[in-house]
Amino acid sequence: MAGLFINGAVDDASVKAFDELENSVKSLINAAIEARKHAYCPYSKFAVGAAIQTDDGHIYTGSNIENGAYSASLCAERVAVAKAVSEGKRQIAAVAVVGLQENSFTTPCGLCRQFLMEFAKTDFPIYVAKPINPPLRVLCTSISQLLPKSFKLDF
Ligand SMILES: [Zn+2]
Repeated sequence: MAGLFINGAVDDASVKAFDELENSVKSLINAAIEARKHAYCPYSKFAVGAAIQTDDGHIYTGSNIENGAYSASLCAERVAVAKAVSEGKRQIAAVAVVGLQENSFTTPCGLCRQFLMEFAKTDFPIYVAKPINPPLRVLCTSISQLLPKSFKLDF
């Protein structure tokens, strides 16, 4: 497939059937679906779940946490990263994100892409699905596809 237009141009991303994915990827997506159930989103009503697998195989999950002072809100991806990093894990191996938008995949926002990139020793896959169990289709992309030419502080 030559290019894909989902929340903007995503080159080289592909949409696969959930059933085609490896069991480890299915587990990561299912963890994100479970995490989404804990979303605190009374203002937007837009629940998102995320699951991050670190290089040692552990999975850390997050859901979005909104706040009445809107700018204090946290996305699911950053919650999951904060849980991993605060427990000493600093290398992301894979990410799953789930949100329910009828006509598009819920890819990480720009802020979360930068936040995720901080813990990318190498490129890692990002799987985006709808929170339906099982999700039918999964957008398979990566952090470098979603955030090309990213900023990295390099002393
Ligand atoms: Zn975000």
